Amino acid sequence: QAKIMGRHRYHFFDADLDEQVRTHHNRRTEVRAALRAGELRLYYQPKLDMRKGRIVGMEALLRWAHPLRGVVGPMDFLPIVEHSDVIVDIGEWVLREALRQLQFWRAFDARWVISVNIAARHFQRADFVARLKGILAEFPDVPPHMLELEILESSALSDIAHVRSIMLDCQALGISFALDDFGTGYSSMSYLKRLPADMLKIDQSFVRNMLVDRDDLHLVSAVIGLAKSFGLGVIAEGVETIEHGAMLMRLGCDLVQGYGIARPMPADDVLPWVASFNTAGVWQAAAQLPPI
Ligand code: C2E
Ligand code: MG
Ligand code: MG
Ligand code: MG
Repeated sequence: QAKIMGRHRYHFFDADLDEQVRTHHNRRTEVRAALRAGELRLYYQPKLDMRKGRIVGMEALLRWAHPLRGVVGPMDFLPIVEHSDVIVDIGEWVLREALRQLQFWRAFDARWVISVNIAARHFQRADFVARLKGILAEFPDVPPHMLELEILESSALSDIAHVRSIMLDCQALGISFALDDFGTGYSSMSYLKRLPADMLKIDQSFVRNMLVDRDDLHLVSAVIGLAKSFGLGVIAEGVETIEHGAMLMRLGCDLVQGYGIARPMPADDVLPWVASFNTAGVWQAAAQLPPI
């Protein structure tokens, strides 16, 4: 029918909604193909305990090593697939890849905890725990307590009874949980009480501005207080300077992650980076900085 309307109309029709649907479908197919073609990578960003001056683990962050576009970040391709089962296949790939890496790093530091981000759609599947058990069984040398799952505070709120039971089942295996981007999801105290989280992860938007915005400073301080009163661990993300680190220590948050310590890096760079970080000792200075 479009053809009858002539060449000009044909082009107009082509660029319409139909085209958008097709483009979305194509992009989803492209992401699935990237997984099959082995183009996905995990980068790792260190987590530092400032008080102990020790690297306590890494967060695994997904990248797409695109043959033409270079290294593509997760926000540019995960949203395309987060409402389809492709996100489940990718999530299982990420878990396997992180455990495979842990198998190797365990000999270097058996106390490290590797954090893996899990999408709500994946996490809330009925077979999540059973399949996770299967994946863990493929890596008998890796103790499950070396694995932490990061779930978004906002996604944990949708079906609290279901989420709670999944978390308890995973914790029975030895896995721990962090509530990611904490402070952005509007959880009430009563929700937090029912979620068996081990760690709160303060969202980077609050951390970034806390030295210039008193409201953000109060929010960061309140989340730290909340974690302490619930007996949970707390980590700040988006820590870009030593001044941020010093303030966080004063507020009672020892664990930090951010560009100020290190950017996410390929797995092969991690051990050399840790060795040079330990000898540099720059971040121990955060403990000695005077109050701001
Ligand atoms: P997230 O889990 O909150 O991860 C933190 C993001 O902030 C990462 O972006 C990290 O590179 C970035 N970041 C870390 N430190 C700093 C800093 O000091 N300053 C600034 N400006 N940014 C910092 P990335 O790697 O682009 O990941 C974005 C989001 O994508 C993650 O947010 C997470 O929600 C999601 N994601 C990443 N990997 C995976 C994955 O394997 N599976 C799933 N389902 N989601 C993932
Ligand atoms: Mg995360
Ligand atoms: Mg986060
Ligand atoms: Mg985030």
